[in-house]
Amino acid sequence: MDLNMNSAGAISSSNGDDKEEFVRVLIIGSGPAGLSAALYAARADLEPVVLTGMELGGQVSLTFAVENYPGFPDGIGGMELVDLFQKQAERFGARIEFDLAAEVDLSNRPFKVKTQNGKLYLTETLIITTGASAVHLNVPGEDDFTGRGVSYCATCDGWFFKEKEVIVVGGGDSAVEESIFLTRYAENVTIVHRRDELRAGSILSERAKSNPKIKFAWNSTVKEISGNGAVKSVKLVDTQTGEERDQLIDGVFIFIGHSPNTSLFTEQLDMDENNYLKVDHLMQTSVPGVYAAGEVADPHFRQVITSAGMGAAAAIQANHFLDEFPLDN
Ligand code: NAP
Repeated sequence: MDLNMNSAGAISSSNGDDKEEFVRVLIIGSGPAGLSAALYAARADLEPVVLTGMELGGQVSLTFAVENYPGFPDGIGGMELVDLFQKQAERFGARIEFDLAAEVDLSNRPFKVKTQNGKLYLTETLIITTGASAVHLNVPGEDDFTGRGVSYCATCDGWFFKEKEVIVVGGGDSAVEESIFLTRYAENVTIVHRRDELRAGSILSERAKSNPKIKFAWNSTVKEISGNGAVKSVKLVDTQTGEERDQLIDGVFIFIGHSPNTSLFTEQLDMDENNYLKVDHLMQTSVPGVYAAGEVADPHFRQVITSAGMGAAAAIQANHFLDEFPLDN
């Protein structure tokens, strides 16, 4: 089958074969929002298909421990939670495909989604749960040393920094939580924050402040990351005085927020000024039949439980929409 973009930018297919499939609900993204949507759509007998994206489970799968998801009084590992979400959705008939959405055409129903593996889905409804990605510092050396001392994931890379000196950039919940996790391995963790007060919540902040392995570099930003094959030092700037200082370091962990993964939907769906998808209280985007849930549409709460709730709501609404506006296929 040939897949083409027509002159209007829409995806077209020349014939139907096993590379083309008609589905009632397609879910793009497999974090808590996507897998919760899959569970609810599956229980409504809609046989949803989930395109996992780059990694099954999204950001939470990289989180060492989730301590604020109800039902797990002792906390649960991020990957373990994703595994349970997946099993529960599959039990009711959801299908998880390890594939990425590459092109999307939302101009008409059925909506068309072409994947990186060359499959074309024609879907009656679409639920977008593509999440958000780590923001980069955009300083010299950051890209050069990514994977060689610069990291955006303590759970993935912490082990490599046994008895080493690392800095963590940021002052939010992620930076503080990941700093505490890194003390399992690193000799010392210095939290480099641009202000003199953490943004993180009080429980985490107090835990970090009472941890003997955690130090703070207040009112400081990273100007440059240097090394020779691997990170060796950072140049820090005092945000009050402008004074610069070099610090020898083995690792730089960056947790300064996230930006939504919405580039696929540019000029097809309404977004806010920071490119988050706009949804109403029913998770409906600007195109009827297209829903969004989780961090891709939520710059505010960004919790596993809120994303899961949004995903469930999106699937409930997709089911209502299908009852009201079914397509003949
Ligand atoms: P965040 O709350 O937006 O914090 C980002 C941090 O990075 C802030 O401290 C910010 O400084 C700093 N920052 C931003 N841009 C920077 C730059 N260019 N250079 C230096 N520093 C910069 O992001 P997050 O920590 O990833 O958390 C995101 C959401 O997830 C939040 O709602 C958070 O509560 C939630 N979360 C919750 C948990 C939990 O409950 N256990 C864990 C992780 C995340 P300023 O403070 O000066 O703005």
